[in-house]
Amino acid sequence: MLTFALRNSLWLLVYLFFISAPLFVLLLGSLPPARDFWTEFSIALGYSGLAIMGLQFGLTSRFRWVTKPWGEDVIYHFHRRISLIALGLVLAHPLILFIVRPELLALLNFASAPWRARLAAISTYSLIGLIVLALWRVKLKLSYEAWHLTHIILAVAAVAAGLMHMAAWGFYLEDPMKKALWYGLTLFWLALLLYVRLVKPLFMLRRPYRVAQVKTERGNTTTLVMKPEGHGGFRFTPGQFGWLTLWNGPFNITGHPFSFSSSAQAGDGRVEMSIRNLGDFTAGISQVTPGQRVYLDGPYGAFTIGNPADMHVLIAGGVGITPMMSILRTLADRGDQRPVVLIYGSRDWESITFREELDALRARLDLKLVHVLSRPHKGWTGETGFIDAALFRRHLPPPYNMHEYFICGPNVMMDAIENALAAMDVPMSKYHTERYNFA
Ligand SMILES: Cc1cc2nc3c(=O)[nH]c(=O)nc-3n(C[C@H](O)[C@H](O)[C@H](O)COP(=O)(O)OP(=O)(O)OC[C@H]3O[C@@H](n4cnc5c(N)ncnc54)[C@H](O)[C@@H]3O)c2cc1C
Repeated sequence: MLTFALRNSLWLLVYLFFISAPLFVLLLGSLPPARDFWTEFSIALGYSGLAIMGLQFGLTSRFRWVTKPWGEDVIYHFHRRISLIALGLVLAHPLILFIVRPELLALLNFASAPWRARLAAISTYSLIGLIVLALWRVKLKLSYEAWHLTHIILAVAAVAAGLMHMAAWGFYLEDPMKKALWYGLTLFWLALLLYVRLVKPLFMLRRPYRVAQVKTERGNTTTLVMKPEGHGGFRFTPGQFGWLTLWNGPFNITGHPFSFSSSAQAGDGRVEMSIRNLGDFTAGISQVTPGQRVYLDGPYGAFTIGNPADMHVLIAGGVGITPMMSILRTLADRGDQRPVVLIYGSRDWESITFREELDALRARLDLKLVHVLSRPHKGWTGETGFIDAALFRRHLPPPYNMHEYFICGPNVMMDAIENALAAMDVPMSKYHTERYNFA
C-alpha cells in the first residue's frame, strides 16, 4: 500500500516537474526589465498552459512505463481534466492582459494584428475547438474516427501556434540558454508525436498478425483468433488489452482497444479478442475472414491478477466478461485451485457470452458462477436486477476485504459496485477496474 502511494506520488512529482520547470527556468540568468505584476503573472499562466498542452502528447503516446502504474483509463481521465486546466490558463493569459492594458484589445482584430498576435489567436481558437469537440463529440454525432483525426490536428495547431507566438514575442526568450531550453522542449514534444504516429506504426508493420479463426459467440459477439506472422508475438498478463487495427494497415490513425480474452499461457503467441457489435467499427468484425492481416499494439493496462489473494472475485457486465475470460482460462491452464467467484450480469439467458465454456471451466477451477439477468425468463430462480452489496453478501464469504476484486462493465454498473465495495469496507487497493469508455 505504501509503495503504491509512494510510486504514484513520485509520478506526480515527475509530472509537476515537467510542467513547471520550463516556467521557472525563465527566472534564471539574465532577466528582461520587469513589468507590472499582472502582466508578468498573465505571461506565467500562458507559459504554464503551453507546457501542460505539450506534455499531453506524452500522456497519450501509449508509453507503458507511463500508463502501467495507473491504468489507461486513469491516464485518459487525467488527460481530459488537465486539458480543461490548460484551457483556463491559456484563456486567463490574454484576459488579464486585456484588463490591465485595454489598448491590447486591438490585437483581437485578426486582419490588422501582427503575426505574433495572430498566432496566439490561432492557438487559443484551436484549443477551444478541441475542448468543445471533446466534450460534445457524442451530442454532435461525430464519429469516433473523424473526431480523433480532428483532435490530433487541433492539438498540433494549438501547440505549434502557441510556441510560435511565444518565440515571436521573445522577451523572456532573448536569453540564448532559455531559448535553447524551450526549443529543446519543442523538439521533445515533436519526437513524442513522431514516435506514436510513425515509429510505432513502422514497428507494428514489421510484426503483423494473421486471423486464424473467426468464432461467433452468444450476445452479438465475435472472437478473432490471431497468430503472429514471422515473429514470436508478445506476452501479456490476463486482464490486459491491445489496440487492434484492421484493413488499412498500422498507419490507420485510429486503433480500437479490446481486452485479450484468451489464456495468457498460450505458448505460440496466439491471442484472442472477443468483440461485441456496438458501433461502426465493431459491426465489421463479423465480416473478417480467416487469413486476413491485422495489426496489434499491446499489451497495455494494469487490470491484472498477480497480487496476493485468498480469493478472486470477478464482476462482469455484458462484454466486460472478456478480460475475466482471459483470467479464468489462464488460472485453469496454470492449475490454480484458489477459489474464484464470477458474478456476471447479462441481459437474458440466451445472450450470455461464453455461457457453455464457463460451465465447463467449473471442472478445472474452484469456480462459483453467479449469473445476474436483467431480463430473466419465466421460471428463472437465479439473481436478477442490479449487482449490489446485498448480492455480494449473499454469495461471498467474509472477510470481504481479503478478496481481490476485478470489475469490468458499463460505467453505471461500475460506479454502483465501487460504492457497494466501499460500503463493505473493501479498501481501494483490493479492487481493480477496467472502464471500456475512455471518453
Ligand atoms: C481498455 C478497453 C478494453 C475494451 N475491450 C473490449 C472488448 O474486449 N470487447 C469489446 O467488444 N469491446 C471492448 N472495448 C470497447 C471497444 O473499444 C468499443 O466498443 C469500440 O472501440 C467501439 O467502436 P465502434 O466504432 O464500433 O463504435 P462507436 O459507436 O464508434 O463508438 C462507441 C464508443 O466507443 C468508444 N470508442 C470508439 N472507438 C474508439 C477507439 N478507437 N478508442 C477508444 N475508444 C473508442 C467511444 O467512447 C465511442 O463513443 C474496450 C474498450 C476499452 C477502452
